[in-house]
Amino acid sequence: MFNYIRFASATTTLPTLSLAISLFGAGLVATPAAGQTAQNVIYLSIDGLRPDAIDAIIAEGTGSNFARLQRDAIWTHEARTDTEAVFTLPNHTSMLTGRPTFDQVAPLGGVVIPGHSYVNNADPEDFPTVTLPGVGTVVSVANIHDNRPGEAYVPSVYDVLKQGGKTTALFVAKDKLDTVFNNSYDTFNGASGDGSPVPFEGQNLIDFSSLDSSTNDAGAGNIVDTFVQHVQTNGPQDFTFMHIRNPDSTGHEFGWVDNVVDQNLTPEYKAAVSQVDGYLGVLLNEIENGGVFNPDTTTLIITADHGGGATFDDNHGNPAAEAGEEDFTIPFYVFGAGVVPGDLYAANTLTRAFVDGVNTRYPVTGDPALLQPIRNADGGNLALELLGLDPIPTSFINADQNLAIPEPTTAALLALGGLSLLARRRRIA
Ligand SMILES: [Zn+2]
Repeated sequence: MFNYIRFASATTTLPTLSLAISLFGAGLVATPAAGQTAQNVIYLSIDGLRPDAIDAIIAEGTGSNFARLQRDAIWTHEARTDTEAVFTLPNHTSMLTGRPTFDQVAPLGGVVIPGHSYVNNADPEDFPTVTLPGVGTVVSVANIHDNRPGEAYVPSVYDVLKQGGKTTALFVAKDKLDTVFNNSYDTFNGASGDGSPVPFEGQNLIDFSSLDSSTNDAGAGNIVDTFVQHVQTNGPQDFTFMHIRNPDSTGHEFGWVDNVVDQNLTPEYKAAVSQVDGYLGVLLNEIENGGVFNPDTTTLIITADHGGGATFDDNHGNPAAEAGEEDFTIPFYVFGAGVVPGDLYAANTLTRAFVDGVNTRYPVTGDPALLQPIRNADGGNLALELLGLDPIPTSFINADQNLAIPEPTTAALLALGGLSLLARRRRIA
């Protein structure tokens, strides 16, 4: 399950990496979470899922579980990807680290928001070097940290979870996610767990990891079944990051759309999204009726790494071309503990805003008040907040943990019962 392959440092560094990283810390990490809302959080990324496909399958009668989420979740179909890298590995790395892909640099220079720099989207085991248009040949290192010369370690949700005594899991459907995330947070590269991220003297930060890359097109098994079998046998981890690949695989094979002008979703792509709807039914049933999870203390966060079909009918966010709104517009749903159903932007009018058809840039010096859209990477620090934990050190996206679903309710806290929680809440208030 775990391997320890580490490739050499990049022979050609990315342009942003040569900049000094000197402004870490100040203002990027916010106050502690106010309390614990959930005992279990499942953070689910559905690869290549366009929001309009959700609406389409609901209209066609093959989206009953998404329809249920639209009644019972707080959600938006106007969430956004990373601004610059609109493809799989960079966005999933943002979800786990709370960082943009690239360092965000002020007009007069200096890094104001550190990126994670994992821009390469190839499987590092299959493609040890990759040529990226405009960037050149880069070595496809098999962990996040080695992309950051000058910075020893890139913390993630897993660091905070383990330091907070939580159990952790990773269920993914693509080899490259399994490779990169396990290699980044394993016993070799994981943080020390003593509160200071120290590389190379680690513990394994991911307690249970499962890869099912056969989950591709119709008929194959799927990662949700794997997950359900796991939790019914072993019980759940406190935090699970899960990844479903079907819409992306089908979009690349058959096209997200028939053509980019008309934007007609292909029947194959819609069928893949309907298939995911069925998986969601299994997952929702397990949360509510399976007996393993307490539905009052379990929260499900659902988003996507990107959409597709803006510029190429069978691709998305190609670095050789501008990513269009069909690529960077994604769903974001939160269901379960702490949630009051409704519109996610309406619950966050003071802190989040979107511009139709625009992927608002990250704020740099000079525009600190620029309201950010809800991004797929908001979910990492949201998950930690729900579990009563502080944000990811050096993260930026939702680092204030102010994405409201809305705020944790007294009812949700009472559902957790114990006086120990109330004591904890007083202690850290
Ligand atoms: Zn993807």
